[in-house]
Amino acid sequence: MGPGPCNPYPEVMAAMARPMLGHLDPEFIALLDETNERLRAVFGTENRLTFPVSGTGSSGMEAAFVNVIEPGDVAVIGVNGVFGGRMCDVAARCGAEVVPVEIPWGQPVDAEQILGAHPNPKVIAVVHAETSTGAHTPLADIGAGKGDALLLADCVTSLGGIDVSLDDNGVDIAYSGTQKCLGVPPGLAPFSMSSRATEHIVDRPRSWYLDLNMIADYVTGGQARAYHHTAPISMIFGLHAGLGAVLDEGLVEAQARHQRCGRLLQDGLAKMGLELFAAEGHRLPQLTSVWVPGARLPSGMSEAQARAVLLERHGLEIGGGLGEFTGKVWRIGCMGHTARERNVALCLAAIDELLI
Ligand code: PLP
Repeated sequence: MGPGPCNPYPEVMAAMARPMLGHLDPEFIALLDETNERLRAVFGTENRLTFPVSGTGSSGMEAAFVNVIEPGDVAVIGVNGVFGGRMCDVAARCGAEVVPVEIPWGQPVDAEQILGAHPNPKVIAVVHAETSTGAHTPLADIGAGKGDALLLADCVTSLGGIDVSLDDNGVDIAYSGTQKCLGVPPGLAPFSMSSRATEHIVDRPRSWYLDLNMIADYVTGGQARAYHHTAPISMIFGLHAGLGAVLDEGLVEAQARHQRCGRLLQDGLAKMGLELFAAEGHRLPQLTSVWVPGARLPSGMSEAQARAVLLERHGLEIGGGLGEFTGKVWRIGCMGHTARERNVALCLAAIDELLI
């Protein structure tokens, strides 16, 4: 139940144990094409440029900025947690003039505030699901009001767990990670870019490895594929299977399962007398943040020791708070294959047993 890598779907582990195929083997190319098709389905997009970047979620974040930002371009970025701050760092390294929109942690990014932060930004960026706080920022109003700007969304913790619908929400650039609600080990960054955004891809991005000009032909399908780098074959087997598990269950059904489990967990914690951290009405089902119940911990036990006890006794991993909330907030992930009622029941029982 940690906020990081969740238990993968069993079919994912089986797929990753498959014998290797060559990265230019037609059987592998067909599987990659199918993976991209499945990604379009979970992202809710027709974007041709949709593929898994080789690297963890952070490689998707870098690919998103480095391909469209030229020195001096304005990037307005919502900062309501760690990952918004990280986007500012990445954008600044690409030479952007960064306009951070600071929002109290635990709150969503306000559409009016971010849209009003600059008259003519090239990019407006938000974290759809802030893993550091458990807050959900809705995309639709920002997408509707973006004007000429490109809307960039970090969907690392949202994809597969809550609706992202890139096309309906007006998102131009999105990236995710495999290890959250897709139920796959960490290692790839599902990525998607609208044709509107591809027109802004710079000629010579400040990265060779993430340069979409070179990768795009290879990944968009239909035509000759250029060799760019060796695809991480087993990871793509795993992602293909994880997406298959989500789509076999049904994307809407998988999201409803996350919703049910999140509600059960949050209601259960509240009933136990714990105080939820993220703003009511904006709580993610897949990432629950709660104030550390300091007075209820066994005498002399620190919050970190309490989490270590839960891990050792029950195999229950609870994430600590980040930034200024280190030691003050706990983060409980309930994502992908892990988001099951029985896991929520175990989690609540284990915390209840520990508290005095
Ligand atoms: N963005 C968000 C919202 C995240 O939660 C994470 C990781 O937890 C990242 C970006 C970075 O992803 P990765 O650790 O896979 O590189």
